[in-house]
Amino acid sequence: MRRNANREERSGRLLSALAAALLLAVLAGVIHGLYHKEYAETDTPNDCFAAAAATGETALPRMVCLTFDDGPSKNTQPILEILDREQVPATFFVCAQDANEAYLPLVADIAAAGHQLALHSATHQYSKIYASTDAFWQDIKALRQALEPYADVEGIDWLRFPGGSTNTVSHRYGGSGIMKALKAQAEEKGYHWIDWNVCAEDATASHPDAAQILRNIRRDADGHDICVVLLHDTRATGQTVKALPDIIRYFREGGYTFCTVAQMDALKNG
Ligand SMILES: [Zn+2]
Repeated sequence: MRRNANREERSGRLLSALAAALLLAVLAGVIHGLYHKEYAETDTPNDCFAAAAATGETALPRMVCLTFDDGPSKNTQPILEILDREQVPATFFVCAQDANEAYLPLVADIAAAGHQLALHSATHQYSKIYASTDAFWQDIKALRQALEPYADVEGIDWLRFPGGSTNTVSHRYGGSGIMKALKAQAEEKGYHWIDWNVCAEDATASHPDAAQILRNIRRDADGHDICVVLLHDTRATGQTVKALPDIIRYFREGGYTFCTVAQMDALKNG
């Protein structure tokens, strides 16, 4: 009897352990699926799979930072025109790839219009920039050199990690600790960095139209008093230009103040 009871107890424990393991595996699968839902290896890498924003909700007035990644490109000028017409400041996390070399002089217009110029990546190729921490900072150095003729590079102290600060794609190339190391080094070098908490999903392989981009933004922004919106100004994101007036209207009607990332940071810490 006693042996049977022990056996039953053991098999009971085994069953619960199995059920727990199964549940964990399903949960991990769901989380993994969600995490990578929007990620596709395209010409325009999509940053949306790492939606962690270093914002934090506070008692401050409602604020929104429109941020544009991966430009400048042919779509940057129309974006600047809309921002100017609407009197809305924004932040541009720029690249310096072969594809956008011809548009690099636009960084001077971005800065002259009062927007914030910030660093993203020269090549934006995960396999290169995340091969090692040295490779990452070499890439940032190359970006700064490419911007030098057009901008006050010394004054740029904000960056956004391609894929976001919690991306796991980098682990393939630089090991599981690379983002942690890069964040610590960024701080040592005097950089501020920021992710996002609202993702337009405008650079996904599915090429969403303007209406879908606006829906994506409304979905993520709902309930947040501080929004850092990830948008893109690449040559492939013409629908972002089309959506921009409605995006601005949405936040304006929601009582949000538009600010650059640096302005928001100053307000939060001031
Ligand atoms: Zn990017």
